[in-house]
Amino acid sequence: MAEGVRAGAATDVGRVRASNEDSLLVGTALFAVADGMGGHAAGEVASAMAVDHLRALDGRDDLRPEDVRAALAEADHAIRAAGRAHPGQAGMGATATGLGLVRVAGSPHWVVFNVGDSRVYRYADDVLTLLTVDHSEAAEMVATGALTAEEARYSRYRNVITRALGVRVPSEPDQWVFPPVPGERFLLCSDGLTGELADDEIAAVLRAVADPAAAAGELVRRAVLAGGRDNVTAVVVDYGHGGTSSADTAPRTTP
Ligand code: CA
Repeated sequence: MAEGVRAGAATDVGRVRASNEDSLLVGTALFAVADGMGGHAAGEVASAMAVDHLRALDGRDDLRPEDVRAALAEADHAIRAAGRAHPGQAGMGATATGLGLVRVAGSPHWVVFNVGDSRVYRYADDVLTLLTVDHSEAAEMVATGALTAEEARYSRYRNVITRALGVRVPSEPDQWVFPPVPGERFLLCSDGLTGELADDEIAAVLRAVADPAAAAGELVRRAVLAGGRDNVTAVVVDYGHGGTSSADTAPRTTP
């Protein structure tokens, strides 16, 4: 794993669905969650394809934000082509969200990316912040004032995704680029987690459980316990934490 980075993940089929259509990536410097859609196990294929295209980038030391964008565009194309080629996979698609260490002007930065309604949160200084914007009809109705955020949580429009990889119209991913800050923690998750747990419960687990894999496991366990109406996936990424992290002793990277 990249210097100063520790990560762990957990996923669960939940209590209702027959199969787990979420896929996840815990790489050395690239982390992702993809949530598949489509019948007859096609969702699993689509989310695995999304993650595979990102995995191919992991480990490159010159990774740039545009490489992530290109990999998502390739995944978008490949999923659509597979859906056309295989009748059982027609109409399949996947969300893709995640976080990677890239180089911008010679210095390390995070890139956060998102297509669909999976999410990336940042937890630092005891504050949980949602970094991504859901691509769902409910979120767009909140943006226009047609729904309040609270109404959106229970709206039937919550599950109507407006952007995803592999669907009929190519979807542009959102990207954010910013420098890493020691002590920060990120949560990547599918909507099966945020559909069951409120932000304050998510923050409480991220505060209480230091180990990233244990924190991801506890979040998923609670979401399944709370109903588990969908597949649940969580990836927790820590940067520059003390203790076993190599960040304390590693030489600082200068631009
Ligand atoms: Ca889902």
